[in-house]
Amino acid sequence: MMEFSKQWAQAKDKSDKLNGFKNEFYFPQHNGKPVIYLTGNSLGLQPKQTKAYIQDELDAWEKLGVDGHFEGKRPWMEYHKFFADKISKIVGADKEEVVVMNNLTVNLHLLFASFYRPTKERFKIIMEGGAFPSDMYVVESQVRHHGFDPKEAIIEVTPREGEHHLRDEDIIATIKEHGASTALVFFSGVQYFTGQVFDMENITKAAHEVGAFAGFDLAHAAGNIKLELNNWNADFAAWCSYKYLNSGPGGVSGIFINKKHGNNPDTPRFAGWWGYKEDIRFQMKKGFVPEPGAAGWQLSNAPVFSMVPHLASLDLFDKAGMDNLVAKQKEITAYLEYILKETASQLKIITPKNRGTQLSILTDANGKKLFDYLTNNGVITDWREPHLSDMAFGVIRMAPVPIYTSFEDIWRLGEILSNY
Ligand SMILES: *Cc1c(COP(=O)(O)O)cnc(C)c1O
Repeated sequence: MMEFSKQWAQAKDKSDKLNGFKNEFYFPQHNGKPVIYLTGNSLGLQPKQTKAYIQDELDAWEKLGVDGHFEGKRPWMEYHKFFADKISKIVGADKEEVVVMNNLTVNLHLLFASFYRPTKERFKIIMEGGAFPSDMYVVESQVRHHGFDPKEAIIEVTPREGEHHLRDEDIIATIKEHGASTALVFFSGVQYFTGQVFDMENITKAAHEVGAFAGFDLAHAAGNIKLELNNWNADFAAWCSYKYLNSGPGGVSGIFINKKHGNNPDTPRFAGWWGYKEDIRFQMKKGFVPEPGAAGWQLSNAPVFSMVPHLASLDLFDKAGMDNLVAKQKEITAYLEYILKETASQLKIITPKNRGTQLSILTDANGKKLFDYLTNNGVITDWREPHLSDMAFGVIRMAPVPIYTSFEDIWRLGEILSNY
């Protein structure tokens, strides 16, 4: 059905209802031509409308000063509220279960303050081996903060010998094995290195069965795969906005708090004035009373200038529709896999079938040369050194982000690879 031909790729683009979105983004140029951008899993491209959204707020600040909190197109007092509807559709949550605030690693610590409260009997955290470094450091420092030894308290699930991704059954078995002493099960949604999608629904179920909380880092999942956080009954999650969500370098993070915790004012948390019950916030009284929902986890008033690009981008997601994006993601990733097999069959894809848009390619001794060749030919990918000790060579990650990648881009990549 698929073909390695320009004609096939162009016909496919023509019938793609998301085809027009490519033109909504700026592409870096290489020799006067747009690059083939496969690193949207690291930093998404800039939507063209972002500039105008930022200009709006500069204008509001210029003309209104402090009154910009209450007046203008998008009053700053309410700024975090402009995200609830849009982001809840992306992660599969109710509006009150999400809020946009801070940066990702900061939020993970805040969420651990609520959901990692170890006791002498229950103190372990179960997570994936080879997790993103920031997540490892969060877990390690949280464990130490509570006076436990990381060597005893952190249980990592690793691939079986000769394999590169985790088996769902091994994750579940580990949860059962350590059940009585486990406080928290904490996984990514999509593994940043291998591109594996974890079975968040069953991980959550298994965690709850042993009396532990289940939380997820969705940095590589939000805007990439279909998420149903509240159907899965996850306790909490956090993600960043600058990868698949195209909201600019170091952009704000989002969090999900299951409403059973969010609507319980007794759920422990670190508090700040912006999480205070909104209708009485400005009485400025002693004694913290949380706003119900995830909003009750906010500390500071909205950092408007790092949130503006997020809004500009989410407006595009709203127009494109997450279901359409996921449908195209499956097709374009399948096409990339096909093209890689046709034109570079020596390369081994280590990403399993349960995946998002990213494919991770295990290279050989000449891997770095191939990576440089791609870069020199206007294909932007990224290079990762081996991450688990038994991996001999580095990995090239490629993510054909559906909102701005065309099938023709992937065909062009095939042309470049076949000339290698
Ligand atoms: C990208 C990424 C981060 C980055 O954290 P920041 O706090 O935004 O710098 C953390 N965790 C995971 C899993 C990531 O993929």
